[in-house]
Amino acid sequence: MFRIILLSSLFALSLAALLNGALPDINGLPDFSDITDNVTDAVKSRMSDLASKGIGRHVEELIGIQKKLKIINKIAGEQVKHVKHGNTNTPAATDGDRLGKKNKDEVLDSLLFQGDMFLTEVQLDRIIENTAQELGWSKEVLTKLGVNSKKSLNPTRGKRQAIQHPPNDFHWALPISYYYDDNIPDVTRQVIRDTFAFYANHTCLTFQESATAVPRIHFRNATSGCFTYVGFLGNDWYGAPSSQTTCTICQGAGLHPVNLGEWFCNNQFGSISHEIFHAFGVFHHHSRSDRDDYLSLSAANLADKQFTRLTTSDSYNYGTMYDYGSVMHYGIDGMTAKESLYQSTMGAGLGPQFGDIVLINNQYQCFCQSATVTCVNGGYPNPNGCNTCLCPGGYGGTTCSDRDPGTENGGDTLQATTSDSCLTLKTSIGNDDDISNLYYQKSWFHIQAPAGKQVQLIFNKAGASPNKTNHRGGGCNYRGVEVKLISGQLNRTGTLFCGDDPALVSTSSNFIPFTSDSNLAILQIYTQLNKFNLEVKYRYVDSTTSPTLPGSCQPCQDKASNCNDMAQYCTDPNNPQIAASCPVTCGTCPT
Ligand SMILES: [Zn+2]
Repeated sequence: MFRIILLSSLFALSLAALLNGALPDINGLPDFSDITDNVTDAVKSRMSDLASKGIGRHVEELIGIQKKLKIINKIAGEQVKHVKHGNTNTPAATDGDRLGKKNKDEVLDSLLFQGDMFLTEVQLDRIIENTAQELGWSKEVLTKLGVNSKKSLNPTRGKRQAIQHPPNDFHWALPISYYYDDNIPDVTRQVIRDTFAFYANHTCLTFQESATAVPRIHFRNATSGCFTYVGFLGNDWYGAPSSQTTCTICQGAGLHPVNLGEWFCNNQFGSISHEIFHAFGVFHHHSRSDRDDYLSLSAANLADKQFTRLTTSDSYNYGTMYDYGSVMHYGIDGMTAKESLYQSTMGAGLGPQFGDIVLINNQYQCFCQSATVTCVNGGYPNPNGCNTCLCPGGYGGTTCSDRDPGTENGGDTLQATTSDSCLTLKTSIGNDDDISNLYYQKSWFHIQAPAGKQVQLIFNKAGASPNKTNHRGGGCNYRGVEVKLISGQLNRTGTLFCGDDPALVSTSSNFIPFTSDSNLAILQIYTQLNKFNLEVKYRYVDSTTSPTLPGSCQPCQDKASNCNDMAQYCTDPNNPQIAASCPVTCGTCPT
């Protein structure tokens, strides 16, 4: 703390000496020379095109937004430089980088905050003001940079990861209306309807589909990119006339645009629920004020992504635990989970998690005044009716006392009855039909040990079928297994593994037992595309258990080194030795 204060003071002193000169470019401050109002004719032309499609009111506003995002980028760079880094290995893969990836349009990219938010100048000013203050930048410097702190003192100011917080901020009035451009296809409309139904079923929020209500959330495919305005912006903003006369959907027409212009956001529940959460007024999870306790960021990889950490005055988390699996968490290059087993949990496409729902219910003051139900296992009365409970992942039933039946009414509750030998769970979910489904198929398993013991898991196989791609990568968006072992953290997403993750393919030289801290381990298997197969051995252990693994717990192993190449012959009757040499790849391990 002392060190931070000292640095801040030094910045302030350095800045004081500079106020009479040009914009500062000195030790301790970034180079501000590119913070200008000058844009090329080509950029101006593209901006004019975007404004005509309702992306901003006019070119001058877009120039201002672009400039402020450059300032925010510098702030993010400073934050990354000054944070104390923890574990920095295991960089994320790019495979699951969906909403976080750059749009194809450079000008559009330069106008979006963190890849998918179109913030107003007022919102940008507020973020700059608060984060720059934390870095020790003086207000005078911000004024020179064109940040108008006066303008940001408006009624939408508040505490946020959830951007709006009563009583000072505006909320969407209920019911929240929504509609679509004509070119939004039926399949997208159905996922949007399903997403609003999901939110209605888990909150006190209500919604209506209306082509005429104003203001309304309006789904568009006006240009490339997946992005939205964040939070209800106030009746003045929605009602203000546009200076554009040629726009097809003008701002100021009572519309809150959500643009779904890429394959990865136009029909996926996870992506659409993410954008709608922004529209409700929630920023990214990895921007939370406490994110540096959980993430290491690489400045090089994040150089142009504005991954600003919000200050405590801009980030109010309602006591929710940091959740790497939040629907609002990216999983992209340059982000490393300090809890390394959660690396692939970041960027999960599973949709809103328990903590996300807790956040939005707090945000909109959705509480049961007189619940008729008593919840267990961390659940709480569902503000939509108050006679059932909202349950942490893996639990279900009216009171959260049951195992979640998942989408397939599958899964199982299993007993670990031995310590000196292992039982085996061999299961799968999905079909190998190469059809990418709109929604995940999910099954939950509870593995219980006797009271006072812990559950030990030894993974043998977890992944796609032979000959099918495993799609490893951040977020395990296609299929995977979630593992929950910590009794005090059942209300956040567990560790996700995408399939054939080295952590899940045990061999005699790579033996990674997973042990719960209570007598319960929870597993979820899920898929959106093709089968996910799981084979895991389990037993119970306690502090007296020998570290030597009993024979029945030893993992089944491929004996040949080229099993992947031979997978197509697993069932060839003329080559029975292949299944014998490649039991893991061929799925012929003994049970
Ligand atoms: Zn986003």
